[in-house]
Amino acid sequence: QFAEMVYVDKLSTIGQMAASFAHEIRNPITTVRGFIQFLGKDTKDEKFKEFTPLILEELDRTNKIITSYLTLSKPNEQQLSKISIDKTLMDSIELMKPLGLYSRVELQYEGIDKNDVYGDEQHLKQALMNVIKNAIESIEYEGNVVITKKPDYFNEVVVLTIEDNGKGMTNEQLKNVGLPFYTTKTKGTGLGSMITNRLIREMQGTIQYDSKENRGTVVTITLKLYDKNEKKNHLKKG
Ligand code: ADP
Ligand code: MG
Repeated sequence: QFAEMVYVDKLSTIGQMAASFAHEIRNPITTVRGFIQFLGKDTKDEKFKEFTPLILEELDRTNKIITSYLTLSKPNEQQLSKISIDKTLMDSIELMKPLGLYSRVELQYEGIDKNDVYGDEQHLKQALMNVIKNAIESIEYEGNVVITKKPDYFNEVVVLTIEDNGKGMTNEQLKNVGLPFYTTKTKGTGLGSMITNRLIREMQGTIQYDSKENRGTVVTITLKLYDKNEKKNHLKKG
């Protein structure tokens, strides 16, 4: 049997504080980047010239992590509108394919119907990619990640599942997933799941993790169907 944990918001004071640090760190990074770029062009030092692109790349990566983290402290910036879940899902899968290939993980997709959901396309893409990335990273040698999409017209939601046959989680890990900076990976940030949970919740969706050690993990995401939602609003107004 799968151990079960229903998602609860775990963003604590520590998370909020980190968000303000992140904001403060971004300015000096931008300054440093400018200087490195300038000096790298001007220098006669061959080694420095050679390593300049690498330094800039790493600074950009740092900036990216911070930027994605900052989306958390600006909850009102999500543009909630009608988006195609099929397109967003396919884009996210396409973007994760290179990592899958590199990790000997096959990504499979099964979907029913075409559906529009209520959400923010960029944020949904980010959330889905975080989940797919975790699924790929849970597989040690080789395996597959199966992604399914089923509309549930009765409950007016679309149900997505992302299932891997990776190493799974212990009950202890299952309790901690989504806590800021919780990671079991040597190069992990422990921010992915927290960001994902937050983004999904802001779209009025739900996310749930089911996992069994050495068997795998199923992440279930529900999102509000757009057309049903619209009809409801229409009825309320009339
Ligand atoms: P990170 O990926 O940087 O470690 P996350 O917040 O994305 O941070 O994930 C936190 C932890 O949750 C992971 O380190 C891992 O232990 C666990 N986890 C998340 N998704 C899965 C999964 N699909 N299979 C196994 N463990 C997972
Ligand atoms: Mg992750």
